[in-house]
Parts: sequence; C-alpha cells; structure tokens
Amino acid sequence: MNQCEDIIVKCPNPEHTKNVKQVCFDESCKEQRLYCHECIKIGMHVTHLKHQEELPFLFEHISRIEKESDNLINRINKQMDLIYNDFFLLIGGIRSKYQISKQQLLNLNFQQINSFLSQSIHFKQFELTIEKLLQELIKEFQDQIKKLQKDLNLFALDYDQISKSNIEKSEELYEIGYKLYWNDEQIICQLFDDVLL
Ligand SMILES: [Zn+2]
Ligand SMILES: [Zn+2]
Repeated sequence: MNQCEDIIVKCPNPEHTKNVKQVCFDESCKEQRLYCHECIKIGMHVTHLKHQEELPFLFEHISRIEKESDNLINRINKQMDLIYNDFFLLIGGIRSKYQISKQQLLNLNFQQINSFLSQSIHFKQFELTIEKLLQELIKEFQDQIKKLQKDLNLFALDYDQISKSNIEKSEELYEIGYKLYWNDEQIICQLFDDVLL
C-alpha cells in the first residue's frame, strides 16, 4: 500500500470534522484546495469537477513538479554556461586583437605593424562602445532577473525554512559556478597566451 494513502489531514474548514479526501487542481480555482466530503456537500469545486483528484495524487503532483523544476534549473543553467562560453571567447578576442609582445611585433612585416597600430589607436572607441553595450545588456538582464525573483515572491512564503535551505543551496551552486568561471577564464587566457607566444 502506498505510504501517502496513510496521510491524514484534517479539513482546513474549522467547522468541518472530516479529513481531507480530495484536492482541487483547477488553475483558476480560488477556494481552499484541500477539502473534505462536507465541503463537497456545500457545493465547493462543483463547477470544475474534472480537475478534482484523490489526496494521494497530491504527492505524485509534488514529486512531478520537483522533477520538472529541477529540469528547468538544469536547462537555464546550461543557457548561462553558453553565455559564459561566448564571454570567454570575447575576452580572448580582445586580447588577441589589442595585446602583442615585443617579440611578436618584431616578427611582423610593416603592413602588419601598420594594421596593428591603426587598430590600437582606435582602441578607445572600441572600449567605449563595448563597455556601454555590455552595461546596458547586463542592466537589462539583471532587471529582468530581479523581476522574476519578485514574481517568485520567495521571501513572502510561509515555508521559510524550506526556502532558506533552497536559497543556501543556490548560493552554494553560485559559489561553485563562480570558482569554475574564474578557473575557466584563467585556462582560456593561458590558451590564448600559448597561441600568441
Ligand atoms: Zn471540509
Ligand atoms: Zn476548485
């Protein structure tokens, strides 16, 4: 027998003595979602009967949503990884275009030196453009993330303890990600240096 079927929850309606038997999964329902037989008698959820499930289904639902949210987290983490990768390539590109060793310079012909000098003389313009562009993009990105965080309303939920442990888990992942980020950047810088020297 499924362990979930042993779960006994008293009806949230204080006037009812029965235990919760069913759960409403209707998207637009505004009534108490856990309810008992007495609730059915007074007409709760009667307008959307096809979205009613027995109590044990609640636990299937919870574990399905946990799995789906983990999948979502994995997918958005991968999207961030792609951004990091592109960012490392950008940094490498800046180095390879604007940084040159004395030895490398001496190995160039006059036409190549001329080309390098022209580019480096225009560096200020490039610097202003890229900084402005990145600042705008990052600000837009941060604003949207903050908006999403606000929509999630993490800090207003009653299950503070659960939220707290999830936030700690996220912070831990962030730390790991941050360390990987810098390690990766050092490796990539080293790769570019190796190619150039
Ligand atoms: Zn009830
Ligand atoms: Zn309902």
